[in-house]
Amino acid sequence: MCICVNCLWVDRCQTYHSVERQHEVTHLTATPDIVPIDPLINISILEKANGSTEVEWDVRACKSFRKDQGRWMRLCPGQEIPK
Ligand code: SF4
Repeated sequence: MCICVNCLWVDRCQTYHSVERQHEVTHLTATPDIVPIDPLINISILEKANGSTEVEWDVRACKSFRKDQGRWMRLCPGQEIPK
């Protein structure tokens, strides 16, 4: 799971904005203004049951991470957390 969903900066972060683009999900903001320090992105290639593949991007570490548990869920109530 991407640590960004529990980060205070998730709706302002340029790296998370890129992750959203890779996952083809709706952006939390059109104008992210935070440039995080040293985000470490894990990229996984997953094979799906139908034989197609899916690329998953997850931020696993980041020096700018500031814990705000459940921030993404509070910003998007009732929506499923992007995988
Ligand atoms: S953990 Fe880092 S990359 Fe993720 S939202 Fe926070 S500042 Fe951005």
